[in-house]
Amino acid sequence: MARPLRAEIDLAALCRNYRAASALAPQSRSMAVLKADAYGHGALACARALTGLAPAFAVATIEEAVALRDGGIETPILLLEGIFEAAELTTVEALSLWQVVHSEWQLEAVLAYRPRRPLPVWLKFDAGMHRLGFSADELRRHWARLRQAPERVTDLHLISHFSSADLADDSAFQNQHAQVRALGEALGAPLCLANSPATLQHPRAHGAWNRPGVMLYGSNPLEGALPAQVNLEPVMTLRSRLIAVRTLEAGEVVGYGGRFRTRRRSRIGVVAAGYGDGYDRHARDGTPVLVNGQRCPIAGRVSMDMLTVDITEVAAADVGSEVVLWGRGLDVDEVAGHCDTIAYTLLTGVLPRVPRVYLPATAAAQAS
Ligand SMILES: *Cc1c(COP(=O)(O)O)cnc(C)c1O
Repeated sequence: MARPLRAEIDLAALCRNYRAASALAPQSRSMAVLKADAYGHGALACARALTGLAPAFAVATIEEAVALRDGGIETPILLLEGIFEAAELTTVEALSLWQVVHSEWQLEAVLAYRPRRPLPVWLKFDAGMHRLGFSADELRRHWARLRQAPERVTDLHLISHFSSADLADDSAFQNQHAQVRALGEALGAPLCLANSPATLQHPRAHGAWNRPGVMLYGSNPLEGALPAQVNLEPVMTLRSRLIAVRTLEAGEVVGYGGRFRTRRRSRIGVVAAGYGDGYDRHARDGTPVLVNGQRCPIAGRVSMDMLTVDITEVAAADVGSEVVLWGRGLDVDEVAGHCDTIAYTLLTGVLPRVPRVYLPATAAAQAS
């Protein structure tokens, strides 16, 4: 038997989540964010499943865009951080990519470049995240310059990113949103603001375009619960099996450093999955794992290729029993909480050693 660990990717669930994101924002177009290999799910497979459904995709690097074009994806693709050097503009033009412009050097590069047809530009406003983008004054100036270069630049959009759209306390969001709205109105600019949290809980931030990411993969990024009408499904289910089982007496320890000590006679199952696959080593004792569909606590430190769970309560569990580390039946957000992190890092952290197995998108899931 081959090593049983695999990441099962349910492309029909991806399509249903995409439709849920679009349904929340019927006045907006939603570009599906596929950066970081579609948050670990496989960007090309996800792009193919979403083709015909999503009017655009977004990635972080030109290499990610090139891989999609090489795979036959013709949907518009936005580079969320634009170019990293001026030489990339030839590829931007050749592959018909859309680019964010967040820095002066990018602006000058775009204005110095002579494309055969003008290039779409998404000018980035820093509304308070203080990461990328221009101040309001700078942005007004740059907007005017770009407008005066119609042979270089077309389809100008105003793009901005919220720092705190996920929080229950929405004061920072309201402040940032008010700034970007005022600027957008002054310029008559089409807006692109909403990530997943804003798509979910701030309808006022929905613009001409939205940019949902993690919600497409079934994670709830909000500090609180999802709105009642929203149902997201896990797309990735990380599956493995028990490869060994042993019975220990009370008072024995398990794993590196002996972190876990049995309090009773216990059965310990060894799962083929470890931090060498991307399972987070910060997982505490008690982190849930499904064995034969039942929740069992992690017992002992996660090692590189294996982890150990207390299966005392699951009498039928034995070598070969099915294990789910997260996904269907076990929320990745809950697992992330036990690792002091967020689902984004668990999903993007699944390493290439883990085979991805794709469940196809159905026509029903894709129908828009
Ligand atoms: C990653 C990213 C998104 C998507 O964010 P989610 O929280 O995953 O929805 C949107 N916009 C920008 C600029 C991003 O970098």
